[in-house]
Amino acid sequence: MAKIGINIATGSLQQAEMIVGIDLGTTNSLVAILHPETGKPVVLKEFHGNALVPSLVHFGENGSVSIGDQARPFLITEPHNTIFSVKRLMGKSYNDVRDYASFFSYRIIDDNTESLVKIQVGNRFYSPIELSSFILKELKNRAEHILKTPVNKAVITVPAYFNDAQRQATRDAGKLAGLDVLRIVNEPTAASLAYGIGLSKESSKTIAVYDLGGGTFDISILRITGGIFEVLSTHGDTYLGGDDLDRAIVGYWRNKLSITEEELTKDPSLSQVLRLRAEEAKRHLSGHDQFDGSINGMDISITKDEFEELARPFIERTINSCARALQDAGLIVKDIEEVVMVGGSTRVPLVKQMVGEFFGRKLHDELNPDEVVALGAAIQADILAGNNKDLLLLDITPLSLGIETMGGLMDVLIPRNSKIPSRVGRQYTTQKDGQAGIKISVYQGERDLVKDNRKLAEFNLTGIPAMPAGLPKVEISFLVNADGILLVRAKELRSGVEQSIEVKPQYGLSDEEVERMLLDSITHAKEDIATRSLVEAQTEGKQILDTTENFIVKNQSLLTEEEIKITRAAMNDLTAFMNGSDKDQIHAAIEKLNDLSRPFAERVMDIAISTAMKGKKIG
Ligand code: ADP
Ligand code: MG
Repeated sequence: MAKIGINIATGSLQQAEMIVGIDLGTTNSLVAILHPETGKPVVLKEFHGNALVPSLVHFGENGSVSIGDQARPFLITEPHNTIFSVKRLMGKSYNDVRDYASFFSYRIIDDNTESLVKIQVGNRFYSPIELSSFILKELKNRAEHILKTPVNKAVITVPAYFNDAQRQATRDAGKLAGLDVLRIVNEPTAASLAYGIGLSKESSKTIAVYDLGGGTFDISILRITGGIFEVLSTHGDTYLGGDDLDRAIVGYWRNKLSITEEELTKDPSLSQVLRLRAEEAKRHLSGHDQFDGSINGMDISITKDEFEELARPFIERTINSCARALQDAGLIVKDIEEVVMVGGSTRVPLVKQMVGEFFGRKLHDELNPDEVVALGAAIQADILAGNNKDLLLLDITPLSLGIETMGGLMDVLIPRNSKIPSRVGRQYTTQKDGQAGIKISVYQGERDLVKDNRKLAEFNLTGIPAMPAGLPKVEISFLVNADGILLVRAKELRSGVEQSIEVKPQYGLSDEEVERMLLDSITHAKEDIATRSLVEAQTEGKQILDTTENFIVKNQSLLTEEEIKITRAAMNDLTAFMNGSDKDQIHAAIEKLNDLSRPFAERVMDIAISTAMKGKKIG
């Protein structure tokens, strides 16, 4: 089906707008998109650059703000002004983080309350939402620079265990960065999408997503059925990750070189160099058996075996978490059909080995583990944009579908851009006593009056047993199946009579026509709204006049002459306004007549008739 973007402000049609996928990580953040030509997800990087943007924000003395790699040197030289790991603070109060306050080198305000934390930098205060928005803004700018097009819409990922406050905080950060956050997606869900798991409607699978990043570890057990991702359990450690491995190497070298605590405090740059070298060694050992380097003229080295000995206890902790997660999900290892590896630290061969042994199967590690979440977010973004027909689990309808109701108005049952397959049912009733049939006219389009839309089909529901107006319950249901075929069914629920037809909404409608119809609805939006409200007022007025007239005739004996007189006067007033074009006058007159007749009605009317005064009627 066709997809057309419309800029509501200008009324112009656009090419499908780019929606980016963002992995807003504790250590690193990045953006990915679905490549418009290859249809494959790709991470965005500057020419020869790195896709990963370290999740760091540095505030300079002069008011300057730097993000990512530019902020990194300040981690050591200006720790108070350099914010890292802000993701840990999202949606948190001071009480939530007080036990970990010493972890942060910057100042978290201890206001001892349940309100959300603030971070003090100089004499300014920032919320984690603002700080995250700096990172998101940087990602947005980068993406715009690389794509050479405005980027306003995004899907952002969060850990599966994030609660509502943390998700909302992430959304707000996006908004603050000028991004319309179309969806918050769980990181493990995104990662499995990147591997194509869960993209087919039929597949039903139970999978484990193992995510070892810079400072956090998560294991999530997901059940995927028919494109729906259900988190069965999550477990992990919010203070366990690659940083621990770096620290372990630093400790190992300090021991070897006999570097004392005193020497480190005297020379802060030494501890920085140690840490940087340690990370370098760790990365190197993911592909080699030995690392050799030097620090301040001193030779340093570490072998893979030595590193693995240091790393093993940390990895064992993650394996224990995996066992717990399985237990919480009520599953055993054999129930897990796929294992997806996420996070830069899963590049460590011992991690793969131990996780593979635990689950007893081959792991998904074909993609870059620090990119998979962003890649999956891009796939999700593209599904939301409705661009990717091959991957699409759910399609959408390009134009609204509805039926004609009293006064020639369009009553929309399935709004445009609804996902299909889709089913909607709505109840209507008859207008006249003893009405045996109703005509159902099906339209497609965005205008308020059916005459401006496109008629798709028309049929009669006949054989409704004689009942007072308003009593029959006619349910009209629209079913658009996965092929875009609309099935319309009308059923009178009291008697069971029913009638249905099949229509092909797309039939004979070119993309250009769809575009024109959408454009028309925008051009005429104002006048349509005015017409609709006038027609609605007139319809309501006519209904109440009919009902009241009926009521008086039927219940003459129960009403006083005075009551009848004042009611008729109010009816005349309403009739007079009905032919004018002032909907407010009509509403006021309806209101007056209603107020007047309500007490009588309550006195004598049975419930069926009072519903009839409200029910929508098909002409
Ligand atoms: P997060 O999800 O926490 O933002 P990432 O998934 O980007 O973080 O993981 C960052 C961690 O991955 C860092 O600790 C980094 O040192 C580690 N890492 C990156 N590449 C490698 C590698 N080749 N070998 C081992 N660890 C690596
Ligand atoms: Mg991550």
